[in-house]
Amino acid sequence: MIYDLIRDEIKGFKNYEVPTIECMYKMDANETPFGLPEATMNNLQEIVKSANVNRYPDPVSLKLRDKLAEYCGTTRENIFVGNGSDEIIHILMNAFVSKNDCVVYPVPSFSMYKVYSQIAGAKNVEVALKDDYSYNVDEIINTINIFNPKMVILCNPNNPTGTTLDRDDIVKILKVNDGITVVDEAYYEFYGDTVVDLIGKFERLIVLRTLSKAYGLAGLRVGYAVSNSDVISCLNMVKSPYNVNSISQAIALSVLEEGRVDEKVDYIKNERKFLQDGLKEIGNLKVYDSKANFLLIEFDDAYYVYNKLLEKGVLVRNFLGDKILSNALRVTIGTREANSYFLKCLKEILV
Ligand SMILES: *Cc1c(COP(=O)(O)O)cnc(C)c1O
Repeated sequence: MIYDLIRDEIKGFKNYEVPTIECMYKMDANETPFGLPEATMNNLQEIVKSANVNRYPDPVSLKLRDKLAEYCGTTRENIFVGNGSDEIIHILMNAFVSKNDCVVYPVPSFSMYKVYSQIAGAKNVEVALKDDYSYNVDEIINTINIFNPKMVILCNPNNPTGTTLDRDDIVKILKVNDGITVVDEAYYEFYGDTVVDLIGKFERLIVLRTLSKAYGLAGLRVGYAVSNSDVISCLNMVKSPYNVNSISQAIALSVLEEGRVDEKVDYIKNERKFLQDGLKEIGNLKVYDSKANFLLIEFDDAYYVYNKLLEKGVLVRNFLGDKILSNALRVTIGTREANSYFLKCLKEILV
C-alpha cells in the first residue's frame, strides 16, 4: 500500500479539511467583510497588465518588500514575503528545525504550528494557557530552561482566544531563549502593539505578519516575516523560487499604496465592543476579552449552538474534539448587519 511509503512523521495525519458550507454570514475564518479598496478595484486591469503574467514573478518580491518595510519602519533586507504566513511557518521549520529538535508553542493556539513542526519531525512541547486563556509566561520560561528548544512560537494576539502577551513578557522570553523566537502578529492591526522594533536588538526574533486579516487579502496568500537580514537569508535558502505569484504581489502593493486600514480596523473594533456588550446580556454563555477581530465564546453545549446557528445561516468556527475548547465557538467580527443577526439568533437559540 502506498501508505506504507509515507514518512513516519506524517503517518496518522488527517487532511486539513475546511469544508465548504453554504451560509448567509461567514463568520468562521477571521477574514474581513470588506472588499478591495475602490482605487485598486478600478485599476485592476492596469495592475494585472503590469504583473506580466507571461513572465515568472519577481522571486524576491522587491517592490512589495520595499512597501512592507516602509509600513514596518525597517528596510527591505529585513523583510521576507511568503505565500501566506502559513508558508513562512513551513519555511521557518525547513530552515531551522531538524528531526527531534524541540519546538515550543502555546495551546490552544493556531493549529498550523503543530502541523508543521510535526512534519519536520520535531518534538512538540505544548505550553497550556491559563484557565482564563492568558499566557503562562513563567511556564513558558520554565519550559525553555528545561528543553532548550530550537524554536519558540508565540501568537500575539493569540488565535483563537484573542488574549495577548505584554511586550515586557516577550522580552523576558527573548532573553532566556537561545533558539529562535517567532512572534506571530497576524492580528497586529487590531491590537496595535508590536515587537517589530526589537529585531535589531534580538537577532533570533522573527515577527510574522499577514495581509489576510486586517488587509483583507486572504484569497491572495500574502504573508511576511520581519527579522534581521541573516535570518532572512536563511529563509531565502529554502523557499521555492517563485513562491508569491505576480498578481498577488501587484494587488498587495496597490492595496498598501492605498494607505493604512485604520478606518476599517476602527469599524471592526467598534463592532467587537457592540458584539461583546450584546453577548454579555445573553445568559448561558461566557465571552472572553479579545484584541483581535474575533471573540471566543463558551457554551454549555457548543455543538448544539453551532448547528442551530448554521440552520439560521450563520457559520462560526467550532473546536469539536479539542480537549480544551470543545465547548467554545469563535465568531469573527463582521458588519453591523451580520453582528446584529448573530446576536438575534443566539438569543433565540439560548432562551
Ligand atoms: C490566519 C492566521 C495565519 C495565517 O495567515 P495566512 O497569511 O493567511 O497564511 C497565521 N497565524 C495566525 C495566528 C492566524 O490566525
